[in-house]
Amino acid sequence: MAFLKVVPLEKALEVIDSFPLMPKVEMAPLGEALGRVLAENIESPIDVPPFDRATVDGYAVRAEDTFMASESEPIRLRVVGEVNAGDSPDFEVKPGESVYISTGAPLPKGADAVIQFEDVERSGDEVIIPKPAYPSLGVMKAGTDIPKGKTILKRGTRLTFKDTALLSAVGLAKVPVFRKPKVAVISTGNELVLPGEKPRPGQIYDINGRAIADAIRELGGEAVFLGIARDDRESLKGLIEKGVECCDLVLLSGGASGGIRDLTSSIIEELGEVKIHGIAIQPGKPTIIGLINGKPVFGLPGYPTSCLTNFTLLIAPLLRKLSGRESEVRKVRKKLAHKIFSVKGRRQFLPVKIEGEKAVPILKGSGAVTSFIDSDGFIEVPENVEILEAGEEVEVTFFG
Ligand code: AMP
Ligand code: MG
Repeated sequence: MAFLKVVPLEKALEVIDSFPLMPKVEMAPLGEALGRVLAENIESPIDVPPFDRATVDGYAVRAEDTFMASESEPIRLRVVGEVNAGDSPDFEVKPGESVYISTGAPLPKGADAVIQFEDVERSGDEVIIPKPAYPSLGVMKAGTDIPKGKTILKRGTRLTFKDTALLSAVGLAKVPVFRKPKVAVISTGNELVLPGEKPRPGQIYDINGRAIADAIRELGGEAVFLGIARDDRESLKGLIEKGVECCDLVLLSGGASGGIRDLTSSIIEELGEVKIHGIAIQPGKPTIIGLINGKPVFGLPGYPTSCLTNFTLLIAPLLRKLSGRESEVRKVRKKLAHKIFSVKGRRQFLPVKIEGEKAVPILKGSGAVTSFIDSDGFIEVPENVEILEAGEEVEVTFFG
């Protein structure tokens, strides 16, 4: 049985930060860019609209031709042609002339205004204009919607449908995004079966595999669930090796404490190096952090609440860094709903549920899966604190 050399949480975070993992950039096709995080600022490569265009159906005119128009003495202009959306007019509107133009069509040379057809009368090849137009009436000038060269989206933006619409408007078919970190997920224990399988007496369903894989996805990573390793050397070693091969990092849950069947740490030691075995927090004391072939391997506690608390403390910041989401706020300040007691000398993380301005402690113990299901996050009770009073301000860290 291995002795645990317990280190402070800050030391564990330092070790994780020193791991050789850097955010990577890839080009995502626009159709797959939704929800991805931009790795660079995006400038518009074009003017939008790219040409002066009509915003109404009507007649393109030279505004000055209409300045003298009035109800009693309307102006008559000759209609010399027609321009529709998608056309590229190669003629000029000369003094005394106009052309019929439809919404979205490029304004022909010479014209500087479009009078909507409801405001004029057509008579043969003439249009009768009863009131003056002014330059730019009924026209959207090139670049007035989005000028070429303008920064339209910032690095770090998590793309929404509005953002992908904007990227479409400027014609970008691919955008630089942070690559999704690929994470292998392994559950361990003879007692575990997957949902859908039939548990033998004494067996329970695997919760952590699903919880961790989906927490990774929510954080912008790609999870590869490798299944359940049994509490034997072959099984566990095989899956750890597979994880190191296929992924950027490996997360195991269960089997982290010093018990006889807890093999994780000895296998990591055999394949690579155990950097930390034991963190001075509760839950999470038996957490393992190792490195195999330059890939971080984590052994998280087995109880789902403990597992997700440690995932949140140790893994989520790393995944946020790798997926470009470091700026996301995952904490709120609330007031403790009722008094709680903690053990002196223990740095504890307790699940809480948020109700309005209050943080309500969930005191079911880490063995209950509903501790974490019913809670929104957790609060920290520092080592030297035994009692937190009702009404005291606490910082709630959301799970994930
Ligand atoms: P261990 O660290 O392997 O001793 O596990 C501690 C406790 O967590 C035991 O009661 C396990 O049955 C439970 N546990 C471990 N892994 C899982 C899992 N993936 N899903 C649900 N419970 C688990
Ligand atoms: Mg186990």
